[in-house]
Amino acid sequence: MAYKVTLIPGDGIGPEVSLAAKRCIDATGVKIDWEEVVAGQAALEKYGELLPASVLESVKRNKVALKGPMTTPIGTGFRSVNVAIRHALDLFACVRPSKSYPGVKSQYKDIDLVIVRENSEDLYAGIEFEEGKPETLKLIEQIEKSGFKKIRPGSGISIKPISKFASERIVRYAFDYALKNNRKKVTVVTKANIMKFTDGLFLKTAREVAKVYEGKVAFEENLVDNMAMQLVQRPHYYDILCLPNLYGDIISDLCAGLIGGLGIAPGANIGDDMAVFEAVHGSAPKYAKQDKVNPTAMILSGVLMLKYLKEEKAAISLENAVKEVLAEGKNVTYDLKPNRDDPSSVGTQKMADAIIKKIK
Ligand code: NAD
Repeated sequence: MAYKVTLIPGDGIGPEVSLAAKRCIDATGVKIDWEEVVAGQAALEKYGELLPASVLESVKRNKVALKGPMTTPIGTGFRSVNVAIRHALDLFACVRPSKSYPGVKSQYKDIDLVIVRENSEDLYAGIEFEEGKPETLKLIEQIEKSGFKKIRPGSGISIKPISKFASERIVRYAFDYALKNNRKKVTVVTKANIMKFTDGLFLKTAREVAKVYEGKVAFEENLVDNMAMQLVQRPHYYDILCLPNLYGDIISDLCAGLIGGLGIAPGANIGDDMAVFEAVHGSAPKYAKQDKVNPTAMILSGVLMLKYLKEEKAAISLENAVKEVLAEGKNVTYDLKPNRDDPSSVGTQKMADAIIKKIK
């Protein structure tokens, strides 16, 4: 029987990398009946809205989706479609493995980290007050009246909610992930020394959850500024990192840098009974429609999807095929060549072809 999976090609380079990933997944022999739906700029042009209800309905029905990156206009009223999908489907855990592959140039070797990022709240909750609006001025006035420090007039305000419920849910997810995947340690990363009632609550909750796993999975805590330095200096010391939303976003890109860049960093957004798989990278609009960018991050997101579908054999064989192509360094995109102008680099689909040929 075929799995039904929603395919959201995305914007910019999204359609190209999604096509490459779809072809590689199909080549494993796992039968997938893809239901393609549009969201993002393409949907805005076609239906006048960035996230048509039919997209969410499709994911809810199929329970699994592969999604290309989508462009977020900066500084306008539009919220990110990517964030909106995660919120609407309550995909609370963002899981981003950062793993070194031989052949990919990087300052580091043998990196094997997993980021578990809380996906539903924090400064990504989308509660923002625009500078100069009556409700913003009213809020500033109320804050002043409550005896807090003065907020400058002409300020915009973003609200950072962090709940005990969501903190407990994500830390439990990180520890359970450690148990299932034979991982030894979870490091919880916050700025609890400064934001006592938000990050402080996340950390306090994490300490309680960690007790349940005592003797099975080790627990450590760190502050995010120190974490950034530690990851650059001794990344091998760490295993699973569990973070609130914003720090998780930033540290994910740092970890992608440790393994050779965004072109090879995959990700998954996981909820109680559904999941959306997508690369860490964005829509890189300046490279769109050039068949140029690296499809590896999307293909490895496909590997995570196959694992989620419990198609372990297909997942391993696709990951091994990617590994071989990366190690050979021949049929790879420009970003994976020692010199980015190397004329022997291949395009997105040619790299996918090379991977497909290696699937056993
Ligand atoms: P980006 O990840 O799109 O690109 C940054 C740079 O990384 C690119 O210029 C390119 O040099 C490199 N890069 C990215 N993907 C690559 C690939 N597959 N192969 C080779 N090189 C690659 O980040 P950005 O420029 O900050 O964001 C562009 C748009 O994407 C924005 O609108 C942003 O909001 C959006 N975005 C979406 C997602 C998502 O859909 N989940 C994630 C991040 C950013």
